[in-house]
Amino acid sequence: MKFDSKLIHGGINEDEETGAVSMPIYRASTYHKPFLNSKLKWEYSRSGNPTRAALESLMADLENGNAAFAFSSGSAAIHAVFSLLSAGDEVIIGKDVYGGTFRLANQVMKRFGLNFTVVDTRNLDEVSAAINSNVKAIYLETPTNPLLEISDLAAIAEIAQKHDALMIVDNTFASPYNQKPLDLGADIVVHSGTKYLGGHSDLVAGIAVAKSEKIAEQLAFLQNSIGAVLSPDDSWLLMRGIKTLGARMRVHEDNAQAVVKYLLDSKYVKKVMYPGLETNPSFSIAKRQMKGFGAMISFELAGQYRAEEFVNRLHMISLAESLGGIESLIEVPAVMTHGSIPREIRLKNGISDGLIRLSVGIEDKEDILADLDQAFKTLD
Ligand SMILES: *Cc1c(COP(=O)(O)O)cnc(C)c1O
Repeated sequence: MKFDSKLIHGGINEDEETGAVSMPIYRASTYHKPFLNSKLKWEYSRSGNPTRAALESLMADLENGNAAFAFSSGSAAIHAVFSLLSAGDEVIIGKDVYGGTFRLANQVMKRFGLNFTVVDTRNLDEVSAAINSNVKAIYLETPTNPLLEISDLAAIAEIAQKHDALMIVDNTFASPYNQKPLDLGADIVVHSGTKYLGGHSDLVAGIAVAKSEKIAEQLAFLQNSIGAVLSPDDSWLLMRGIKTLGARMRVHEDNAQAVVKYLLDSKYVKKVMYPGLETNPSFSIAKRQMKGFGAMISFELAGQYRAEEFVNRLHMISLAESLGGIESLIEVPAVMTHGSIPREIRLKNGISDGLIRLSVGIEDKEDILADLDQAFKTLD
């Protein structure tokens, strides 16, 4: 089945009991056993819930994995995945990861004995050089948040396999519509379902997908043991969002291309970051491993203009954290999403105080361009 059809017909897409074409929301916390020795499929909703299971089987299908697990947030999914490791293990982590992931690694997992080595995963020599016998995982995003940097997934998977380290990819920015890390050799994909998968800025959710049965079994154990599961209601809502992922992404990307073109021509803009720019040094890798380039754009204003003044003057485009929703969202990472990263580290990693990140929505592109245009013109 093609991807767009899988979005709608993949996984468990109807209720076995009734044939309902929209999976019902099973809110029950527990399930009646007719006899003490009855072997039931469902026992207790933290361990397994039919609505959540439908979402999980759909996500396993979309990422070409063995099994998927739904969590109460992307951060909870990442926490469960880090929990595959033990005290003393080392993780090579990409330098440009979501601020909350950086915080989870440095302020939580470190206290439990995990060690993190921060590496620019675009540089394969740097990745190889960071390998030692304690390294049990390589964790990265591509495209990264917020700099939209691209790492070569297949090449890093080769390094990970050679050293028996798990390769974990946060696929939130690309979504499975544009990129399938498990097909390129990754072992685990994580998502903030809050973003493109949900797509409507109306839920918080996380997903982890395992390629092998062995890792799937370990994640099932951790999901049940730690317990940060996604509710049946939000599982249903996330499935509802996923069905239109393809249709949404095509409009997101069409709009993003128009915005990139506009920004490149603007005298108010110094630098534009977008994986689909041919001038981007990683363009050929992006082209090889992604179907499309997504709709996240970062940019810096020309010297004399201030990011704060610009974002304060937008009308339709919302100044807000998060991304991947139908509405265009804009933010300043240094103050908002990446504020938890110390300033020196932020600057070293290329996140300037004035960097602006735009998640291009699916409004009419003329309105998006007009809003940017009027806000820029107020700066003179
Ligand atoms: C938002 C985000 C997360 C965290 O997900 P939550 O659902 O907010 O917990 C992780 N990775 C990336 C790339 C994100 O954008």
